[in-house]
Amino acid sequence: MKKIIIIGYGPAGISAAIYLKRQGIDPLVIGKDLGALEGYDDKVENFYGIAEPIDGKELILNGIKQAKHLGIEVLTDSVISLKSVGETFEVITEKKTYETKAVLLATGKTRRTMKRAGFTQFRGKGISMCATCDGFFYRRKKVAVIGCGAYMLHELEYLKKMTKDVTIFTDGHDVDAVVDVPVVKGKITKFVGDGKLTHIETTEGSYEVDGAFIALGTPSSVEFASQLGVIIEKNNLVVDANYMTNIPGLFAAGDIIGGKLQIAKAVYDGMNAADAIYSYLKK
Ligand SMILES: Cc1cc2nc3c(=O)[nH]c(=O)nc-3n(C[C@H](O)[C@H](O)[C@H](O)COP(=O)(O)OP(=O)(O)OC[C@H]3O[C@@H](n4cnc5c(N)ncnc54)[C@H](O)[C@@H]3O)c2cc1C
Repeated sequence: MKKIIIIGYGPAGISAAIYLKRQGIDPLVIGKDLGALEGYDDKVENFYGIAEPIDGKELILNGIKQAKHLGIEVLTDSVISLKSVGETFEVITEKKTYETKAVLLATGKTRRTMKRAGFTQFRGKGISMCATCDGFFYRRKKVAVIGCGAYMLHELEYLKKMTKDVTIFTDGHDVDAVVDVPVVKGKITKFVGDGKLTHIETTEGSYEVDGAFIALGTPSSVEFASQLGVIIEKNNLVVDANYMTNIPGLFAAGDIIGGKLQIAKAVYDGMNAADAIYSYLKK
């Protein structure tokens, strides 16, 4: 059993890890990529101590290196689900399941979306981002799960408990595993409906559906949080003065709690969350 798992190795997650380690608590940090700054060539020059503009990715990699130097365990893996089990949590990644007393969500703000016609129009009207949250409403209905990796398989297992009529739409990819439901490999071109989603159009044809669950890539904090019943306002996780959500032991910091979306603020959050987590674990 871990004491604390930090999901995210951006500025918020790494700074929380450093402050925890210095208080004698060994966190496990899991991240999947370079977060907000992944995929950009932007230079950062407004953070303290940066004498010359620094490549954003380099700054993030430096943070990870700094944590490892201090002996902090930092792993690259994707968290696909988070469960609350009594007073502890189960963190399920693509590779492993961990048990922990507390979790800090420092997963940044990225939200999965699909830039396809009709996506925004039918979001919440047949298109859902969370099987655990909305699967119940599609009992015995015709359901699509959109994705191709471990996260899709996780959502598929849940949806199969709700209905026998599930089809995987891979949006042009191969499925990573052997599955026992129909698979449509065509690229999705359009979500169609009349007030509510009724069809998914792909390069292989048009398919009738009652609901579509997006399970592309890995879930964001908002999805983890909604699975657990965390209060969310305007796409930000709501935390108290101690960076704790309404679920005891589940903390959040950085961009995901809103406010200024800046490195300095994420670092500040991480530091404060570490103190609060320390007090929580000592109780
Ligand atoms: C193009 C661009 C330029 C910017 N320039 C500046 C700047 O010049 N100055 C400035 O102060 N700020 C800048 N920002 C904002 C800054 O990058 C963010 O405010 C900051 O990175 C937020 O830190 P964070 O730790 O909350 O999240 P992030 O840095 O986004 O880190 C999130 C972490 O969570 C991990 N994660 C997410 N989901 C999962 C999952 N399912 N499983 C495992 N790990 C997961 C990611 O891999 C990553 O490690 C910029 C942002 C962008 C997009």
